[in-house]
Amino acid sequence: MSFTDPFEPGVILKLRKKHPCGSEKWRILSIGAFVELECLGCGKKKLFEPLELRRLVRSRENCQ
Ligand SMILES: [Zn+2]
Repeated sequence: MSFTDPFEPGVILKLRKKHPCGSEKWRILSIGAFVELECLGCGKKKLFEPLELRRLVRSRENCQ
């Protein structure tokens, strides 16, 4: 994967940091000045700065 790939809604990201619920997978909901992610474990939504997110992402997989 390349960290320069644009983030797209629907893509599943694995982050280096686990959410308190124990899940490390998030789905991209929307892209803007901030990237909105939804935790796949508990459904909580969170906003990330794009640069911060690039540092946190371990891998990405396309949502099929
Ligand atoms: Zn969670």
